Amino acid sequence: MKNQKTAQNDSSKNLEKHFLCNFCSSRLKLKKTIQTKQKCFICKDIFERIDNFATRIVEDLVSYDFSNFETGIIIKPSLMDRDDHIKSEFQIKGVNSVKTKINHELSRRIARKTKTKINHIDADLVIKVNFKDDSYKIQSKSVIVYGRYIKKSRMLPQKQLNCINCLGKGCHVCHFHGLENFDSVEGQITKFLIKKFGCEQVRINCIGGEEKSSLVLGNGRPFFAKIINPKKRKSIIRTKPKLEGIKLLDLRKISEQPKGQISFKSKIDIIIKTENYVKNKTLNNLQILEMPLQISINGKKTVVKKIYKINFKRLASKRLKINMYADGGIPIKSLIQNHEITPNFTHLLQDNCQCVQFDFKKIDVVS
Ligand SMILES: [Zn+2]
Ligand SMILES: [Zn+2]
Repeated sequence: MKNQKTAQNDSSKNLEKHFLCNFCSSRLKLKKTIQTKQKCFICKDIFERIDNFATRIVEDLVSYDFSNFETGIIIKPSLMDRDDHIKSEFQIKGVNSVKTKINHELSRRIARKTKTKINHIDADLVIKVNFKDDSYKIQSKSVIVYGRYIKKSRMLPQKQLNCINCLGKGCHVCHFHGLENFDSVEGQITKFLIKKFGCEQVRINCIGGEEKSSLVLGNGRPFFAKIINPKKRKSIIRTKPKLEGIKLLDLRKISEQPKGQISFKSKIDIIIKTENYVKNKTLNNLQILEMPLQISINGKKTVVKKIYKINFKRLASKRLKINMYADGGIPIKSLIQNHEITPNFTHLLQDNCQCVQFDFKKIDVVS
């Protein structure tokens, strides 16, 4: 009791040296200091800048779909130092730091003006305010979309090259999407999703790949798209949009992308050109391939894959159609024609085989 009284007396004496603003004195549960023209010893009147930030941010937030948000701030370390100094001088414990209080006041104002909620666990938006250089950044939580695509063009590559200027990071040349163009499967999907979600970038992850000349038919190839920094997150996506050269199926938003590798099996039609006429008896070698395939490149074992079913049809004397159902990830073209790969069709059919084209008829994800 006696000690407390002494501390109180000291505090009023010292506080005359250090003027504190209303926010700081009430936060530290200290007596209000007499109003002067001095700036607050701890925060240098930073609290007076919060309203201005909140107003600017709220104006920008008009273009975002969100129900909740979180704020984070950057302030000069000297504010924290002075805060700690006062707290230790007056032995103040269990109160919010100046940083926490500024952040809290900022969130409170934004929440009130936008009629949305503060969320510290999984917010739709994270707003970072830098009091040091008077800037702020709004980052919205990614949206993950799952879908499948059907490709009926033999002129469309699957992958999109990155912008040569920024190598995919995003720059003014590519309008920040990071791509060189939209003339691929990935590009078409990206373009569609950028428009739909008002985002700058989309990262696409396809389950398996195909050649530019391959068709993807049947149920289509599955893909995941991570929509980065979307302004619109409540957009309803039609399940079957038609784009240039591809059609999307089964589109839907999902909560998160599955982790790890996804196993799948595909039904593939392959057209092979041989150098000579291959006898039926030799063609039967394809049926007796030992499973699982130990695929090796230059004698070095790489992958173990299975072909579940394989059939052939003679289209012309030197042209065959192979139909197979196999594990995803088999390098089809190499399996047909590369001597460095074992097994390979050139070896099995005892004739130089060339893979003319291969199309996907069905892709099944194995869970
Ligand atoms: Zn203050
Ligand atoms: Zn760029």
